This record gives sequence, C-alpha cells and structure tokens, in this order.
Amino acid sequence: MFDWLIVGAGFAGSVLAERIASQRGESVLLIDRRSHIGGNAYDCYDDAGILIHRYGPHIFHTNGQQIVDYLSQFTAWRPYEHRVLAKVDNKLLPIPINLDTINGLYGLDLNSEQLERFFAERREPVDEIKTSEDVVVSTVGRELYEKFFRGYTRKQWGVDPSELNKSVTSRIPTRTNRDDRYFTDTFQAMPLHGYTRMFERMLNHPKIKIMLQTDFREIRDLVPFNRLIFTGPVDEFFGWQFGKLPYRSLRFEHRTVDQEQFQPVAVVNYPQTEDYTRITEYKHLTGQKAARTSLTYEYPTDTGDPYYPVPRAENEALYKRYEALAAARSDVWFVGRLATYRYYNMDQVVGQALSTFRRIQDALPTAAPRQAMSEAAE
Ligand code: FAD
Ligand code: UDP
Repeated sequence: MFDWLIVGAGFAGSVLAERIASQRGESVLLIDRRSHIGGNAYDCYDDAGILIHRYGPHIFHTNGQQIVDYLSQFTAWRPYEHRVLAKVDNKLLPIPINLDTINGLYGLDLNSEQLERFFAERREPVDEIKTSEDVVVSTVGRELYEKFFRGYTRKQWGVDPSELNKSVTSRIPTRTNRDDRYFTDTFQAMPLHGYTRMFERMLNHPKIKIMLQTDFREIRDLVPFNRLIFTGPVDEFFGWQFGKLPYRSLRFEHRTVDQEQFQPVAVVNYPQTEDYTRITEYKHLTGQKAARTSLTYEYPTDTGDPYYPVPRAENEALYKRYEALAAARSDVWFVGRLATYRYYNMDQVVGQALSTFRRIQDALPTAAPRQAMSEAAE
C-alpha cells in the first residue's frame, strides 16, 4: 500500500513526491506514461553528444527566491540570459521589440524618446484590452503587429490573436531601450548538468518508487494507494464528460548539422515565413563546445501530446466546469499546467506545487500515525 500515488513525473509531480517523501516520511508511487522523468522539461544527450531538450527549449527564469532556494538543493546553475531574434522582412531583429528592432527594421537612428513618439503615432486606441491582438496594436500599432505577432500567433495557436486572451501576447513586453533579453527576471539560469539530472536528484529518495511507461488508467484499480495527486490533463481524468479541453501540441524535429554554430542566438522565431515557429540551437543554452551543433524545429499541431492550454474565454468556461468537479474530490489534488489548465512557466508550477504541499500539510497534519498504518499494511 502506497500512501500516495502521483500521476506525472514533471515539475508538479516530482516536487510533490520529493516534499511528501522527505517532509512527511510517507511512501510515494510516482508514475508517468512516458519513458522518462522530467515531463516536458526532460533533456538528454543526443547522438552528437549535445544536451538537447526533447520537448523544445526550456529556459529557467523566476523572481521567486523561495523557488530558486528549493531547486538549488538539487542542482547547481549556469548563469544564462535568453536572447531571441525574429526573422522579419529577411532581417534578424531582436524580439521583444526594442530600440534596435525598430532602427534595424526601418533603417532609422531613433533614440528612446523618439521611439516613444514613434509608437505613440502608430498605436491604436482600444477601449478595453481583451485579446492578444488588442495588446499589441494598442502598444506598437498594426504594422508591427502584422510583422512580428499575427503570423507567429496564428501558427502557434491555430487561431487569430483576436480570438486569444490578452494573456498570451502580454507575455512579450515592448521596450524603448536596447535591452534585448527575453526575460527580465531577477534569476535566470540553466541547471548546470541539465533538468533530468536535477529531477534524478530530487527523486532519489527511498520512499519514492518510480514506474515509467505506465498510464494511470492501467493501474488505478491495481495498485493500492491512500491519496492521489494528478498532474495530467484534467478533462482526461474526468473521462471528457463535458467534452475535450483544447490543448495545443507541437511536433519537434531534432536535427544535427555539421557546423559549429547555426544561428547567433539560442532561438530564432519565424513570424512571417516557414511552417515552423522557431529554431532552437542548444549549445547557446549549455555553453557546450563541439564541432557539430543540434537544433530543434517546432511545428505546432492540434493533435499529439498536450503541451499548451489554449487561453480563450470559451475554454476557460469549460475548464471551470472541470475545476468544479476537481474541487469536489477532496481525496485528489490537481496540480500543474495540464491539471489546472494554466499557461504556467516552470517556476510557476514549482510554486504551485510547493503551495499545494502546504495545503496538504494543513489538511492532513497527522502524518505519522497514517504512515505507521500504511507501512503495517505493506
Ligand atoms: P508536464 O511537464 O507536462 O508533466 C506532466 C506529466 O504527466 C507528463 O510527463 C505526462 O506524460 C504525465 N501524464 C499525464 N497524464 C498521465 C497519465 N494518465 N498517466 C501517467 N502519466 C501521465 N517553462 C519555462 O519556465 N521556461 C521555458 O522556456 C519553457 N519553455 C517551454 C517550451 C515548450 C515547447 C513547452 C511545451 C513548455 C515550455 N515551458 C517553459 C513550460 C513548462 O514545460 C511547464 O511549465 C512545466 O513543464 C509543467 O510541468 P507539469 O509537471 O505541470 O507538466
Ligand atoms: N509571440 C509572437 N511572436 C514572437 C514571439 C511571441 O507572436 O516572435 C506571441 C505568440 O502568440 C506566442 C506568445 O507571444 O505564443 C508567447 O510567446 P512565448 O515565447 O512566451 O511562448 P512559449 O515560449 O511559451 O511558447
């Protein structure tokens, strides 16, 4: 008998497995239907010996010191500030849009003040900013929206930005200075030996057993457990009874090329051309030196593994119905990007898992006697 069954060995499931085992001394069976731990943050060495991310580039950044402190128990860090270029009008230009983007695009020599005016002359007033289109046209105007956002967003999400919640393009700021970092968080770094090694250290505890290539549906009635944490898609858990929640998927094409460097930065976005959204070159993230270099091309699709909840009003309404079912299940904790249908970054999922653990501590304070009982039954 396990005290806990945890479904999903990504950030949500692994943080909770670690906390429960180390702080409550309770036994955990952690399962995943994939053949590895780490969820979407999984990384591995490819045939060329380059550390790649199987599910696309994962850059760690956060303003949460508590989250850094927690993860630092399991990894050292390599400082890394992410920079992205967008191929627009056949030029490689910084995204988020900044002073160099505009000067480079239009052959201008504006300073920050002049750029403020440039945007002010072009932005379109929007009464209430609701959609991902509103966010951009009300900041930089329609032409830049068309060049940098509309095509990328349509490719990435399969819908027009006018049909997506403002939260999606709000992730990307607009700057009038020359800061070309993708993120401005106080902590930006990559796990020194990769994410998978960090997860291995997190889960290396005698109270944690791991079963891979195991779907919850296969074992839910076979393995005895007291409590459940579910980090997979919430609609799947409830048998899609209100219909499917849309999740956007990606097809990843991993390639190695015989050149030392392929592109000047880790990620180049393609908002105007190509079927893929972006190309990632991993050596920029890891600092690895090698004669060859490995890349990932991302092709968005509707079918395949669920990667992104799609932030639209109608999807949020459907999620609310599942959320009500989830809230009524006091024996199950739903955590993570798929189970709570939130477009969360890794640090947000770690934060959510740590706060779920605090809720578990409050709800189930008498860990020791229950643990003794379950051990007796084992
Ligand atoms: P997941 O990592 O999805 O883990 C859930 C696990 O549950 C999966 O391994 C799945 O196989 C398993 N599972 C589901 N259902 C079942 C079942 N029935 N039975 C058994 N197992 C099941 N975040 C950042 O902070 N920075 C980035 O740069 C970044 N880049 C990203 C790039 C891409 C392409 C994607 C898709 C995401 C990116 N993210 C990034 C987000 C990050 O991946 C997530 O925040 C984080 O991995 C979510 O962790 P999770 O545990 O909630 O979910
Ligand atoms: N986006 C865009 N053009 C870009 C970069 C981003 O239109 O060059 C939009 C797009 O809708 C994307 C969203 O901004 O999905 C968020 O971008 P982010 O890089 O945060 O996406 P993620 O890394 O989560 O895929």
